[in-house]
Amino acid sequence: MKHNPFESWIFDESELDPQQQEQLEAHLAQCPRCAQLANALNLALQGIRALPEKTAPPNFTNKWAASLVARRQAQERKQARTLAIVLISTALLVATVSLYLLTPNFSLISLAAETIATVISVLSSLNWLIATITGFFQNISAPILIGGILLFAAWVILAVFTLGFAFWKVAFRQSEANK
Ligand SMILES: [Zn+2]
Repeated sequence: MKHNPFESWIFDESELDPQQQEQLEAHLAQCPRCAQLANALNLALQGIRALPEKTAPPNFTNKWAASLVARRQAQERKQARTLAIVLISTALLVATVSLYLLTPNFSLISLAAETIATVISVLSSLNWLIATITGFFQNISAPILIGGILLFAAWVILAVFTLGFAFWKVAFRQSEANK
């Protein structure tokens, strides 16, 4: 049997004129091989048409979910920050108002001046503390530093043991009392 134009016609059925279409159908009716080919092609085309119009890239859902989570977290952080600012402002306002009401001869300017002075003194004492600690660690000799660290570690271990022992004693007494 001659399959020749028909095999290629199967693949571009849409290009055929009515006469060719008829010839093809006649051939398919008597040629199992070409009929099988046409059938397989139709099944494949149906499968392709059945696919969703736009296949999402793999990972798309995950990425989308991750970005959603990130957005929600950012929003929550923003809300927390706003809440903190509101709370701090409210606390400051309440403190200022109550100070204003409770203190005779209260002056907002003197409060502001005092607050600024306090902040500056705290900052400068912090600065001094950091400088002292830094200087201490820079000037200290290695054996003294190691000895100090060991002493500190020993103190921590002792404290932990003492605390643990105290807790154990309390727990032991309680369980004894429960018997
Ligand atoms: Zn054939």
